[in-house]
Amino acid sequence: SEKLDDNDVILVTGGTGLFGKGIEEVVQTLKLKGKFYFAGSKDGNLKNLDECEKLFEKVKPTYVLHLAAFVGGLFRNMKYKVDFWLDNVNMNNNVLRCCHKHNVKKTVSCLSTCIFPDKVSYPIHEDVLHNGPPHFSNDAYAYAKRMLDMTSRWFNQQYYEGEARFTSVIPTNLYGKYDNFNIQDGHVLPGLMHKIYLAQKNGTDYVVYGTGKPLRQFCYNVDAARMILWTLLNYTEEEPLIISVPEEDEVSIADVAKTIAEEFKFEKEIKFDTEKADGQYKKTASNDKFKKLYPDFKFTPFKDAIAETVQWFQANYETVRK
Ligand code: NDP
Repeated sequence: SEKLDDNDVILVTGGTGLFGKGIEEVVQTLKLKGKFYFAGSKDGNLKNLDECEKLFEKVKPTYVLHLAAFVGGLFRNMKYKVDFWLDNVNMNNNVLRCCHKHNVKKTVSCLSTCIFPDKVSYPIHEDVLHNGPPHFSNDAYAYAKRMLDMTSRWFNQQYYEGEARFTSVIPTNLYGKYDNFNIQDGHVLPGLMHKIYLAQKNGTDYVVYGTGKPLRQFCYNVDAARMILWTLLNYTEEEPLIISVPEEDEVSIADVAKTIAEEFKFEKEIKFDTEKADGQYKKTASNDKFKKLYPDFKFTPFKDAIAETVQWFQANYETVRK
């Protein structure tokens, strides 16, 4: 953090979302120098170049974390492919152009592990990102994100003699306070929390879709925030960097359900609806590269992060995104 000084202004696009809120929490706890500006869509619609330019002129950032994106679950990805492509490409192009225009010292953009090729060997490493088509269900989102990586590299090549002014991170599934807890369209982990909340309140069953056997890597938004801030200040390459819990911290959906149930002190048996699809059994990503660069990084234990998230969810149930 000694790289930041009081004259630095760090613009976080998508700063009001799950990832952005994690960064806000870390910036406050670590008392980082510089002025952080957490922008949401009310501060400017980044799909529109004029609005994007106005935001940059107002904030005058020296660093940018570009997290804003049009996101959604499987159903939304399948139904609105043109929107996923155009909205994300427009947003990304506008933000990157403004970063260049304002001579931003470093821009870190956000990709996702779900944009890797569908046919790939596990664990996934950074260098196979473009080696084959993504899964059909989210191809528009995936190609928009992959082009964000390419555009970042092209800015470095054309304007900065190859210096990595523009780079990206690739997070796995994030969770934490300020997530979207919608059961239909949100992600699996916040969806499970909401389901168990309702089961407990209404005295109904807690039913998990599928067998509970698939394995996933879940990363607490606060940990992801510490990793992206580290990347902003220390990473010197343009190749996107996977930010994830280690392979050995992969958990089954059944374990996730159980951990959440314990935190809720839910005593009934957890049911599994095995008629429902499981999805891929696993899609492990390797965090070896990050681990080599930052060997002492300490992840928040899963149980503690779940406890913090559940307590926040219960306390804020009326106002959370659901
Ligand atoms: P959220 O849905 O929580 O937040 C999205 C953010 O983007 C919000 O701040 C939203 O602003 C902003 N935004 C959306 N559209 C626009 C727009 N047109 N103009 C300006 N701002 C806009 O998403 P996450 O925090 O989960 O995601 C952040 C990034 O992390 C994304 O790039 C996503 O692809 C990536 N990611 C997320 C993962 C996850 O599991 N959640 C996993 C891997 C990657 P507002 O709320 O004010 O409308």
